[in-house]
Amino acid sequence: MPTQQVDTAVVGGGIVGLAHALAAARRGDRVVLFERDDYAVGASIRNFGLVWPVGQQPGAVYRRALRAREIWLEVAASTDLWAPRTGSLHLAHVADEQAVLEEFLATVPAAVEQGCRMVSAEEAARLSPAVRSEGLLSALWSPTELNVDPRRAIPTVARLLAEQYGVDVRFGTTVRGLDLPTIDTTAGTWRAERVFVCSGNDFETLYPEAFAETGLTRCKLQMLRTAAQPGGWQLGATLCGGLTLLHYAAFKHCASLGALLERAQEELPFCRENGIHVLLSQTADGALTIGDSHEYARTHHPFERESVNRAIMDYLVSFAQAPDLRIAERWTGVYPSLPGGATELVVRPQPGVTVVNGLGGAGMTLSFGLAEEVVSGTYVRP
Ligand SMILES: Cc1cc2nc3c(=O)[nH]c(=O)nc-3n(C[C@H](O)[C@H](O)[C@H](O)COP(=O)(O)OP(=O)(O)OC[C@H]3O[C@@H](n4cnc5c(N)ncnc54)[C@H](O)[C@@H]3O)c2cc1C
Repeated sequence: MPTQQVDTAVVGGGIVGLAHALAAARRGDRVVLFERDDYAVGASIRNFGLVWPVGQQPGAVYRRALRAREIWLEVAASTDLWAPRTGSLHLAHVADEQAVLEEFLATVPAAVEQGCRMVSAEEAARLSPAVRSEGLLSALWSPTELNVDPRRAIPTVARLLAEQYGVDVRFGTTVRGLDLPTIDTTAGTWRAERVFVCSGNDFETLYPEAFAETGLTRCKLQMLRTAAQPGGWQLGATLCGGLTLLHYAAFKHCASLGALLERAQEELPFCRENGIHVLLSQTADGALTIGDSHEYARTHHPFERESVNRAIMDYLVSFAQAPDLRIAERWTGVYPSLPGGATELVVRPQPGVTVVNGLGGAGMTLSFGLAEEVVSGTYVRP
């Protein structure tokens, strides 16, 4: 097999690899992307499909998320990608939750500039019929969140790359080793000037030494999905409740978080022990995606715990309702996770090679923005 030559090669067909291929192709590079599986089956198709700027660390990461959102919308404009601008509601049923939301708005002017504001229980119920309004004090409305359907969106981006940017997308091809300019794959040898290694949960095969000191581990999440809701019922805004405030970096600086944390530990110990917070999103065909839990280890047993699924559903119905919450699908997802709140790992283990990983629970939200920074050389660690 003759050696083929490109400017840029990408390892991994999840959202991080796709985003780097897009950024490189947009600046005019000849690009090849290698994906080991016949189609992407990793974290990128197992998630909620939420592009979630509101949850990100204020400052550079929030701006990166907003840029990534713009790119998702550009992708949607040039394909048949379903990407409704649903916005999101953080529902406050308890005063300590409301206090965190109000403090967030008072301390993050950039979110207010984007249109984030407190809304009444009545307005929240108008923004989503799924809002349980009994006992609802108020909610944070954020207009910036998008919903994509990951099982469709990831193949759509791969198609866009191949059809509109001429990227050579090679599924079923594993990269076995790199010694630039040579790339050894199961489909022969390639030559490239630069390579982006976006291998997701596989951080043992290529450049294990680049990962060794980072503390990267794996987070396992349990997820559930209903069938399509009857009569074309639409969720509207994506919903979450108070536990989500303990999960996302956007709220970490809020002094009022302490009271909420204390109450949650006391009232919802099982949820806290299992990293449960609950989001409700919808797929293109009208099903509802519900999750999730967070369990951290290098190696996870493959089994789901029904007690975790029950706790997710119990918490869901404390703030949301829908015509049919019977579960049609359950699955687990795993993503690499960095310690200490780091939002990504970008390292250059050898000239021309960049490893990009560790986007944790925000790869759909941040990858397009991060890739643009990395490929253009403007990336600075936040
Ligand atoms: C349950 C769950 C819910 C989530 N919800 C959200 C959400 O709503 N919003 C959000 O922003 N983020 C969310 N995330 C996080 C997001 O899904 C991840 O951050 C993102 O998918 C990581 O993308 P990736 O490309 O690094 O990994 P992956 O999608 O796992 O892709 C890596 C790919 O690399 C390939 N690969 C590895 N090694 C090689 C090799 N040597 N040769 C060829 N191919 C190789 C693998 O086969 C794999 O397909 C969620 C994650 C999970 C698990």
